[in-house]
Amino acid sequence: RAKQSGRNAYRIYNAAMTTENHQRQALESDLRQALKEGQFFLHYQPKVNLVTGAIEGAEALVRWLHPVRGLVSPLQFIGLAEEIGLIVPLGAWIMRTACLQNAAWRRAGLKPVRIAVNVAARQFAEPGFVESVAAILHETGLPADGLEIELTEGTMMSEGEQMIDQLTKLRNLGILLAIDDFGTGYSSLAYLKRYPVSVLKIDQSFVRDLAANRDDQLIVTAIIGIAHNLQLQVVAEGVETLAQLDYLKAQGCDVYQGYYCSKPVMPAAFMAMLEDQKHRSV
Ligand code: C2E
Ligand code: MG
Ligand code: MG
Ligand code: MG
Repeated sequence: RAKQSGRNAYRIYNAAMTTENHQRQALESDLRQALKEGQFFLHYQPKVNLVTGAIEGAEALVRWLHPVRGLVSPLQFIGLAEEIGLIVPLGAWIMRTACLQNAAWRRAGLKPVRIAVNVAARQFAEPGFVESVAAILHETGLPADGLEIELTEGTMMSEGEQMIDQLTKLRNLGILLAIDDFGTGYSSLAYLKRYPVSVLKIDQSFVRDLAANRDDQLIVTAIIGIAHNLQLQVVAEGVETLAQLDYLKAQGCDVYQGYYCSKPVMPAAFMAMLEDQKHRSV
């Protein structure tokens, strides 16, 4: 009996594995196809100055509209795109599209803003990455102060001296560098001092329960203190409520992003927010 149920369990397990493999393979081949077929687009989420209330820029976030599955979250495909190397051409497409868009906004005479682009570890490690970014700025005509690059702690910790060299080159081009999801990766603080980064983004996991959780309040206050002592700008992610916003403001946080202001939106909607600000003449 035991043997039989064991075999059934194996069969079920095996069937589940096969289904999972098939799904993964299907997603993988769909992903390769998606870039050729133009199924990706970008959303923009406003970044708001906590002192003036003005929109200072936006984070570009990739979206995949799959012909059958509909919208697929980047959490479901960025990792896979890294594994199969597709992140390199996809990342280049994202970088070019965001720069092209911001160059057009600047030409339209809107308030000049900075667009932050997420760069994956595998993309950053690709030889010629810095040169490819410089070429994109040149092609699109976007001044370097219109671009910010977000890297996670994991990416920054991985390569050592070569990493610092690359970051320095980007910084020398005039591009701002941000550490994304701060506090969730490796906990070494040494690189905050050693690396030429300008912006620190507090991960949304510390912001979620900020209004009620004393530990999160202490952590956020400490991060803001460290960052400011190192002359870094602090951005809070995932701000959804006025209570969270009030706490961050009281602690001197510089910028926030989150549904309290806006979800990530289509380019035209972000442009409308910028235009609206111009008329309000803060
Ligand atoms: P991230 O870079 O930390 O981006 C912030 C995520 O938080 C976004 O999810 C955004 O939609 C979400 N978010 C913003 N405000 C709020 C809020 O108030 N509440 C909540 N609950 N969530 C909020 P999204 O767009 O699903 O992206 C998830 C992750 O996927 C990103 O985290 C980033 O790691 C990755 N990703 C997204 N776009 C790109 C891209 O263009 N390139 C690369 N390499 N990775 C990307
Ligand atoms: Mg990000
Ligand atoms: Mg983040
Ligand atoms: Mg995140």
